[in-house]
Amino acid sequence: MESKVSIVWFRNDLRLHDNEAFHEASFMSDTVIPVYVFDPRVFGVKTSFGFEKTGAFRAKFILESVFDLRERLREKGSDLIIQVGYPEETLPKLGRENQAHYIFCNRERTHEEVQVQDTLEQTLWTYGMEVRYSRGKMLYYTADLPFPVTHTPDVFTAFRKEVEKFISVRKPLSTEKFVYGNLDFIKEKGEIPALEDFGLKEKEVGKGIVLKGGETEALKQLDYYFDDKRLPSSYKKTRNQLLGRDFSTKFSSWLSVGCLSPKMIYQRLKAYEEMHGANESTYWIFFELLWRDFFRLQGKKHGNRIFQPNGISETKQEMGSKDMELFSKWAEAKTGVPFIDANMLELNDSGFMSNRGRQNVASYLIHDMGLNWVIGAEYFESLLIDYDPCSNYCNWNYIAGVGCDPREKRVFNILSQAKKYDPKGEFVKYWIPALKNLPDSVIHNPNSSLA
Ligand code: FAD
Repeated sequence: MESKVSIVWFRNDLRLHDNEAFHEASFMSDTVIPVYVFDPRVFGVKTSFGFEKTGAFRAKFILESVFDLRERLREKGSDLIIQVGYPEETLPKLGRENQAHYIFCNRERTHEEVQVQDTLEQTLWTYGMEVRYSRGKMLYYTADLPFPVTHTPDVFTAFRKEVEKFISVRKPLSTEKFVYGNLDFIKEKGEIPALEDFGLKEKEVGKGIVLKGGETEALKQLDYYFDDKRLPSSYKKTRNQLLGRDFSTKFSSWLSVGCLSPKMIYQRLKAYEEMHGANESTYWIFFELLWRDFFRLQGKKHGNRIFQPNGISETKQEMGSKDMELFSKWAEAKTGVPFIDANMLELNDSGFMSNRGRQNVASYLIHDMGLNWVIGAEYFESLLIDYDPCSNYCNWNYIAGVGCDPREKRVFNILSQAKKYDPKGEFVKYWIPALKNLPDSVIHNPNSSLA
């Protein structure tokens, strides 16, 4: 029988555990060639408002994740082939050189990524090769949902009620039968680029949290969160805090590049509940992961609209201003509102910001400064270490009132939010030491301008 060669094209699934593309390739092939492609449309280019599309923090996180994946594959006797170029050109070439039959990959659903996979598919047809798509981003399989994707409810609560009680989350796939062949027949394995190759400079994290890319680190964080610290039992009480590493799971960055599978988190959560008991907090971790699935389904359902100023809204919305001078006050943490500036300082320092911080700075940009939400979303796209197209743009849609919220707009009262979530001003003082001697009573409105 003819021996079958397949390529596994790693995209935002930089892991071995629960990797459906690798799993399926292994069942259908005798030789599996794992590949990662650095696409010049993603690295070293600017967004429409002139920010780095993939800023230094995330680029570094991705490089670390690719490095770790390569190491893990090498430990198994295989390797990770590194290419730089357009995947729709480099992958067919590699396939032809190695008489591959299939390219397996986890299917992406957002505009730019879909264009690449569609072009690749068409090119491969001309060479008698085929793309085999699998999935791996969500907790749920779309095939298990009680509605077609196009009928996904536009309101989160309706979505949650339709899924959580009636569908079970499948188990992570086993890696037992993975085909890890020796790739000595490929002479050019490729070097992992450096940040400088994308025109980026390494930015050292100062006072913020440091998150390192890679499946190895992701699995360590799972152990840390569930076993070492047993943090799930208090998640609901701590999740709105602002300072430190432990108040929330910090899984998002690894989830966004796929170093961590949501099904794996779910499995650990269930095991934790069995051992230490379930409570509102353990449920709430699942609840937040449901938001992630919900936004991904919104992205699938509404396609490119989530990136447009009018969002998924059917009625024409008023657009904010594109005053870039005003915007730079927000981006450079110079609004004069301590709570906003402190959060922006954290983002600029480390590529991370808490969920509470993100909601407030987004609301402030849109509703207090009157700026167009797309500028803020693009800035987040550039800076956030955990940037995910659906989670980012749908959250901005939601706060701008052009998304899936039955309420018109999500306007946060910054002063009362600051007083509630940073009552002693510890977060503000941490990021703005110049204010450290101010009494708690005025820390959030030193000029009384917000009073
Ligand atoms: P936890 O509180 O521990 O939550 C557990 C997991 O649930 C997270 O890792 C994440 O995968 C998911 N989750 C939690 N809240 C949300 C939410 N509101 N929407 C979608 N998923 C959620 N999250 C991203 O992963 N990427 C983004 O690009 C992103 N952009 C955002 C932009 C704005 C304006 C806002 C308001 C939120 C955004 N979020 C984004 C959601 C949320 O802020 C982060 O997922 C969370 O802060 C990450 O920290 P954590 O992993 O400790 O979260």
